Amino acid sequence: MRKIKEVIQMNKELDLLIEKCIEYIKASNNIYLASHIQPDGDNIGSLLALGRAIEKLNKNVHIIKVDNIPKDYQFLPNMHLFKELNTEKDIDLFIALDSGDIDRLGIAKDMALKAKKLINIDHHITNENFGDLNIVLPTASATGEIVYRIIKEMDVEMDEDISTCLYVAISTDTGSFMYDSTTKYTHLVAADLLSKDIDLNNIIVNIYQSRTLERTRLFIESLNTLDILKKGKIAIVKVTQDMLKTCRATLEDAEGIVSFIRDIENVEVACILKEVNKEEIKVSLRSKKKVDVSNISLRFNGGGHKRAAGCTIYDNIENAKKLILNEIYNVI
Ligand code: 5GP
Ligand code: MN
Repeated sequence: MRKIKEVIQMNKELDLLIEKCIEYIKASNNIYLASHIQPDGDNIGSLLALGRAIEKLNKNVHIIKVDNIPKDYQFLPNMHLFKELNTEKDIDLFIALDSGDIDRLGIAKDMALKAKKLINIDHHITNENFGDLNIVLPTASATGEIVYRIIKEMDVEMDEDISTCLYVAISTDTGSFMYDSTTKYTHLVAADLLSKDIDLNNIIVNIYQSRTLERTRLFIESLNTLDILKKGKIAIVKVTQDMLKTCRATLEDAEGIVSFIRDIENVEVACILKEVNKEEIKVSLRSKKKVDVSNISLRFNGGGHKRAAGCTIYDNIENAKKLILNEIYNVI
């Protein structure tokens, strides 16, 4: 694993930021972390890994649960670290993970602003550098990859629990090591994590092979709305509240549909419109080769990466479809 060490040392600026981050952690007692709204595998895995590492330094650590934790991730170790919002104690340090802007912290935003120190650790190119200390590394495949580097430099053993959480963070955020963001270092980190005897089969079955029937039915309903446009280069589907009712599913169950339609031959941009309510539509975008979808989502105050991004459009679902398609037409 000498190579990983070399990579870490290659970037002096990053070294200094990580050093400062560990200094802040060691100088603090009450440390708060928080998920973002609609937390994903990278967010949850990174939080549990860093939360557990900080706990091992004998600090009071709380991970604020800002939103529901999807069922897929509930098998992860140290879920006890997740707590409901509480504002009792002094907050020496607040750490945001995988959150491009401070509003992503939802109900925990006020705590972040109130904390004596705020650290922002992320890999989104659209990150707004809202912390006192910002470790933003857009070349990292996942926030989990940055957290890995931080824990490596802390006086804490990278144990099986921490490794499991980091593996989940990286595996899910790279689309199982398939996105462009995957580098040889991503694989070196994954190899190091696998060397900690983590139960890979258990991870894969929980995350990728436990789709509920409700979710499966929602897939079918949603795929029935598939629209193919611009000579097959755009694929777009909808998930409405009515469909959720019919399938007894939740919006969380729409996860995975957009990547499924991206994988259709010749599709360059895939889009799913998720109806939160009649005037609020959550949009997820994926691309394959050329289009940078983070630019499209920025037009609606969203964010993300080149190949995976999202935003919210405050209008009804038919208008939202027209608005997003207009932006896609401009770049395709
Ligand atoms: P998803 O489409 O799976 O929800 O998200 C894809 C990527 O875009 C993730 O990296 C996520 O953090 C980012 N993303 C999704 N929605 C938003 C949003 O409303 N605002 C910002 N800043 N990023 C988003
Ligand atoms: Mn991420």
